[in-house]
Amino acid sequence: MIPRRRIALEGADLVDALRTLWVSPAQAAAQVAAFEQAFAATIGVSHALATASGRDALGLILDGLGLSAGDQLIIPAYTLGELVPLMRARGIEPVPADVDPQTFNVTVDSVAVRLGPRTRGIFVVHLLGAPCDIRAICALGDAHGLPVIEDCAHALGARIDGRAAGSFGRAALFSLEATKAVAAFGGGVLTTADDALAAAIRARLAGRERREWPPVRKMLLKFVEEAAVRSPAYGVLARLMFSNRRAGGFDRFYRRAHDRVRGTAAAFSAFQARVGLRKLARVGDRQRRLNAQWQALAQQLPSRFASQHRDTLGEAAFYNFVARFDGDIAELRAAAQRHGLDLGIGGEVMDDTASMLGLADCPGAAASRAQAVLIPLYEGLSERRRRRMLDILHRLARELP
Ligand SMILES: *Cc1c(COP(=O)(O)O)cnc(C)c1O
Repeated sequence: MIPRRRIALEGADLVDALRTLWVSPAQAAAQVAAFEQAFAATIGVSHALATASGRDALGLILDGLGLSAGDQLIIPAYTLGELVPLMRARGIEPVPADVDPQTFNVTVDSVAVRLGPRTRGIFVVHLLGAPCDIRAICALGDAHGLPVIEDCAHALGARIDGRAAGSFGRAALFSLEATKAVAAFGGGVLTTADDALAAAIRARLAGRERREWPPVRKMLLKFVEEAAVRSPAYGVLARLMFSNRRAGGFDRFYRRAHDRVRGTAAAFSAFQARVGLRKLARVGDRQRRLNAQWQALAQQLPSRFASQHRDTLGEAAFYNFVARFDGDIAELRAAAQRHGLDLGIGGEVMDDTASMLGLADCPGAAASRAQAVLIPLYEGLSERRRRRMLDILHRLARELP
């Protein structure tokens, strides 16, 4: 079975764990500060604050900006669905802005039509690393006195007119989950150029307890998970877990298990800082290699797959390869799996937040949700497997209705 993703694990991760399990609090604080400085320099902003997760960073930004019960926040109609409860828990009403199914991003017009008297902020994502029209959206925010928050969970390394994604809005969030570009086994980063906002959030983070063990444990679990993905039994396991009938239950189980490990209020650890610093130094090279592979794959896919338009507004960062298929994607996934190719179970692309909220007026998000399919592309995908994958996809494009 060709797995849909692989987690990049390195011996150096284990070494970093051993070197940080018994650091003193002062050493840990110095390592976290070094990571934050390097991150701020990479993005070109004055402040980077390491957090427990990308979600945690978003919560801190919303609180820091004073968004509270009764306020409306514009959000993308196609993004990670788990961000919605985080807003609703604060009484904030998310108002989805539709996306263009070619880029999967909101547009300045789709945001503008959603503004109203209770709007207190605009939250946008550079989805799958493709820059959204952030300059125009920030100009719109300025004209209405509204802060713009950038979700850069996929976009570390994306640039617009030479400037890094995450340096345009009032604040931005990044994720250091195991599946993201700089994987520190959980954690997030919040960037901002606003001194007062940074100071207020820094004061809240100062009260948190630093524990080295939970992210190390998470790394060890990832080694086990990765060993399972690489084992010969994976094909059988994947068929059992990802069949269309069971997929919903498995997806919920997996997401819940991750939420438990993620924790929400721990301080960023010295282990995460070390791993993050090491991977941050290489993120540009990783980016160039994977972007080149992205381009090659986009040209070799059958024409029934429309790959994301990523580079219309800037230089995209690599996150995942996603294309829209013009047939039934559940059938495509099931047929691919019978041929030994794991295209996922649906939840691994993004969610239609408009329909989650009971709205039916975001056709771009509905089309994205109905047609988007993840095509395996990651470091460590062998040329042999890549060719086999293309053979399978070409065959299915001919055979499927
Ligand atoms: C991963 C992700 C986040 C934040 O994720 P955490 O798992 O909380 O670090 C935010 N937005 C999007 C679109 C994501 O994919």
